[in-house]
Amino acid sequence: MTEPMPTAQRELRAADLAAVRAQLGREPTTPFTVVARCTGGHPLVIRNVPLDAAGDPFPTTYWLTCPDAVKAISRIESEGWIASLNERMTDDEAFRASVEAAHDVYAADRATDLAAAHAWGGVAGTRIGIKCLHAHYAYRLAGGDDPVGAWVAERIEPVHADQRRGRVAAIDQGTNSIRLLVVEPAAEPGAPATELARDMLITRLGLGVDRSGRFDHDALVRTVEALGTFCRRARALGAERIRVGATSAVRDAENRDEYAAAVRTLAGSELEVITGEQEAGLSFLGGTHGLDPGRGPFAVQDIGGGSTEFVVGAAPGIAEHAISTRMGSVRMTERHVRHDPPTAEDLASLEVDVASVLDEVDASVAVRDARTFVAVAGTATTLQAIALDLSRYDPDRIHRTWLTRGDAERVRDALAAMTDVERAALPVMAPGRGDVIVAGAVILVATMRRFGLDRALVSESDILDGLALEMLGG
Ligand SMILES: [Zn+2]
Repeated sequence: MTEPMPTAQRELRAADLAAVRAQLGREPTTPFTVVARCTGGHPLVIRNVPLDAAGDPFPTTYWLTCPDAVKAISRIESEGWIASLNERMTDDEAFRASVEAAHDVYAADRATDLAAAHAWGGVAGTRIGIKCLHAHYAYRLAGGDDPVGAWVAERIEPVHADQRRGRVAAIDQGTNSIRLLVVEPAAEPGAPATELARDMLITRLGLGVDRSGRFDHDALVRTVEALGTFCRRARALGAERIRVGATSAVRDAENRDEYAAAVRTLAGSELEVITGEQEAGLSFLGGTHGLDPGRGPFAVQDIGGGSTEFVVGAAPGIAEHAISTRMGSVRMTERHVRHDPPTAEDLASLEVDVASVLDEVDASVAVRDARTFVAVAGTATTLQAIALDLSRYDPDRIHRTWLTRGDAERVRDALAAMTDVERAALPVMAPGRGDVIVAGAVILVATMRRFGLDRALVSESDILDGLALEMLGG
């Protein structure tokens, strides 16, 4: 795998930049992503890159931006609690050990963006003691196992009096990535739920499962660590239930019980191994939820790492026919891509494999009858980000926009001509996607050609949203 780009330089919504600017009352000093939101959807915690615009160290990775939360914590600080908690550090061995562990993990987290930044210390840029309660609370909301953050939470939550009950979290465990969505139910039925957190990490749990039938040990360790962070983050945001749905590679792995045991411990729920049919229904729900019923029938394509689902239905949200194929971007890359960049022979054997899977799809699901073709998940959204020539990944610019077949072909050809390193360096490319996106692009373009689809409605909401919508009963 190629060296990942710092998360915070890849993805940012223009609306969040404006909101944070207003919250801080100044221009943000470093690029950031939003890690947590409040009731109402405004940013609560952002994640900063380690260097500010001038190139100087910026040790506070997680920064609290909601003015009400900031005020509530400043009140506690003015009561002298920083000194009291530091005294407790000297008296209480277990407390001290857990604060120091939080500092260590925080420093390691920052070092994933910039190795040299490890030396800048832990929470709020210190290695010993407690310096800033805002920073500890922000870290807790970002998934940090931080006893000081937990202590603060007990004293200030709920920050907003209108916070609604019934918050839930959904985690989608795929072949290539693990994704988190935390939502608060809408105030009235029919209104959209408020997104409190949405994140994705590429851990490659399915690495090699196609060949060995088992999870690779390191991939499993990496994935369980990400799962732990996501579950802490969901709980810190008040999620009452955490649902973990696993697809494709997890279905196929002999040692999936090891992952299931981690889910039981960390999420407090049983792992749901989602069948191909359920996966299709959830993708369709996520991809078509809220669309105009007059634009049906709909076909949804969900290109994953290990499988691709095709689902059709006359009305939004209600899947009628589906097929799950063992054709995914990771699986197809492992099978056919032998060179970097792929040679014409690599691409030809990939095309042949994809074409034979599409024969199967053509025989079982009426994709070609769809009036609206919806393409969900990372392959399609990333192709659209490149087609739109975005300088950073802005989901608001991508969600429910049209990608023409011509643009999809143009981007596929451009990506196929690049090396893994060149693709990974594109400003909109998620870490770990650069080397598998060519196979994903081939699948998307071949599908549009085969079924005579001139354009795809690209959707940021997919199976993950489907999992959460089901939890909310919508
Ligand atoms: Zn707030």
